[in-house]
Amino acid sequence: MTALFLTHEHSDHISGAGALTKKHGIPVYGTRGTREAMRRHVHPDVDWRTIEQEDEAVVGDLTVESFATPHDAAESVAYVVRCGSKKLGHITDLGKITLQIVEKLKGCDTLLVESNHDERMLVDGHYPWPLKQRIQSDVGHLSNEACADLLAQVKHDALKTVVLMHLSESNNHPEIAMDSARRVLGDHPATLFPARQSTPSVLIPVE
Ligand SMILES: [Zn+2]
Ligand SMILES: [Zn+2]
Repeated sequence: MTALFLTHEHSDHISGAGALTKKHGIPVYGTRGTREAMRRHVHPDVDWRTIEQEDEAVVGDLTVESFATPHDAAESVAYVVRCGSKKLGHITDLGKITLQIVEKLKGCDTLLVESNHDERMLVDGHYPWPLKQRIQSDVGHLSNEACADLLAQVKHDALKTVVLMHLSESNNHPEIAMDSARRVLGDHPATLFPARQSTPSVLIPVE
């Protein structure tokens, strides 16, 4: 492992950061807002590299571009990673799709995208109303339906792999999320699978 890129400071995204960086002694990239918000969790010795909300960092052969996401965090970002002609997009924890997001994610060979909840399951589910409102808001989380809308706008012939991320265990089911994405991909040959919360995914070949 060469570097760790943080998207934002919410605990489900940073709780492993301390142990990982300690074990591997690698630099951590994140926005100023992320660092400030997680200050108490960052060891002073950590090799922190600030990346702005619209920025670029080079790590070995990889160029990593950051861009802002609408989320209730300090300065949250998504990333596009380029290596030669290959492009990977990673976007999670966002309340809505913006024109900029669609533009940034066009032309990706590999796409990792949030498919958090089924809108009906969330409304009918057991979460308290304020939490439901937060998830549904423009700075909350992307539903299966919104994820499908995003995929419809960025899919292209060379798209190889789509990974659905950040699936809610209470308000979603992998099969429902997969069906929703499959509907917009149609007969596109891209590999599609859901990421799991508690098990690592398989290694995804990007070439
Ligand atoms: Zn999250
Ligand atoms: Zn979050």
